Amino acid sequence: MNSKMTVLALACVLALSACSDNSSSSTAPGATPSTTASAPMEAPAPAASTPAASPAAPPAATPATNEKPTAVVTDCATEIEGSDAMQYNVSSIVVPASCKDFKITLKHTGTMPVSAMGHDVVITEASDMKAVEADGATAGATDGYVKPDDSRVIAHTKLIGGGETTSVSFPVSKIQGDGPYEFFCSFPGHAALMHGSISVQ
Ligand code: ZN
Repeated sequence: MNSKMTVLALACVLALSACSDNSSSSTAPGATPSTTASAPMEAPAPAASTPAASPAAPPAATPATNEKPTAVVTDCATEIEGSDAMQYNVSSIVVPASCKDFKITLKHTGTMPVSAMGHDVVITEASDMKAVEADGATAGATDGYVKPDDSRVIAHTKLIGGGETTSVSFPVSKIQGDGPYEFFCSFPGHAALMHGSISVQ
């Protein structure tokens, strides 16, 4: 904002000085060849006034690589992100064994509505993931694509859309069995890209 104002003010000053220069040079009476040299000053560049504002740029494309970092864990909690590109920002969560409960916060960094790009975090044993996902799709949007009272679901957040945040806490003991355990998005079709491992160490 401020820089834009400054540019405008500068443009005005340039325009004014250009006008006064023109008027003074136009009042020059005789066509004496010697005065011609003083007339042209450096011309104000009109190109500088082109607005820098561009329409909402799409978010930078996510790298093609599937390798994502491990979630950052602080105080027995982590925050992970889901995007309009149907991606989590992490591929694994490592829960410290010293934690009694663990909290996962999911932040949807996109702008698409929950009906088109809904995300959640569902935790199951890896071997249950596909079946839980399928039953969730059958359960439908009103249940957030998680079958109600599904005993295979260890924990899950609600389904959210762009700009929303949700979280879930669960006892760490629930993922200290044989495993392995996975977290994934139960929105139909998303788990293929949106899943990762969750373990206790
Ligand atoms: Zn999703």
